Amino acid sequence: MSGPLQGIGMTSRRTRMRLVQRLRESGIESDAVLEVMGQVPRHIFLDEALSHRAYEDTSLPIGHGQTLSQPYIVARMTELLLRHEPASVLELGTGSGYQTAVLSQLFEQIYSVERIKPLQDRARERLRQLNIRNVLLKHADGGMGWPERGPFDGIIVTAAPMDVPGELLDQLADGGVLVAPVGEERQVLVEVMRHGNQFERRELEPVHFVPLLGGVVR
Ligand code: SAH
Repeated sequence: MSGPLQGIGMTSRRTRMRLVQRLRESGIESDAVLEVMGQVPRHIFLDEALSHRAYEDTSLPIGHGQTLSQPYIVARMTELLLRHEPASVLELGTGSGYQTAVLSQLFEQIYSVERIKPLQDRARERLRQLNIRNVLLKHADGGMGWPERGPFDGIIVTAAPMDVPGELLDQLADGGVLVAPVGEERQVLVEVMRHGNQFERRELEPVHFVPLLGGVVR
């Protein structure tokens, strides 16, 4: 886990606390997650023109046709992971790096893969700005996971595949949990828990994510 976050100064505590309150009302129960959502400055993960909207509970564009997820879903997926207290977490779809920053405050080591290089470069710069050091980034098509670094206690996918890729399940440690949006037009948030070689799958709620795509963009 990282030390205290830096660069928070710009938004008032009140604005961030309002977001936390809204997340609580939406059903987020974990105090640890709510605390981190109140600490990580979402505005620095957005272009300046949009940063005034950073504490609205809505998804926002980050360029290249991609979006920074809605705070509710960031909190929800983080909460699902946290129940299993994973030490190592693989994230697919670094995007802006905001979800990555949230994860970094709750778990020991984060591995995050992004296929669009300019997004990864910006995410890296922002994580550095916040002095976050327990994150390793990789520019690649994350559909195959990150086999060299696995197995992972937790896997979070922030772009929607048609179904959970088998390669990711292979990289899930025993007792581990994977959370992912699955589907095309109609998507559902899926949680998969591994017990030995058994996989227990639960479908949780409708969600709306950009698709998990193949190949890389330089
Ligand atoms: N968690 C991000 C969400 C970004 S949107 C955030 O908080 O900002 C989803 C991201 O997944 C996009 O950046 C997209 O480029 C990336 N992505 C889509 N398919 C991918 C793949 N196969 N491998 C790695 N990243 C992928």
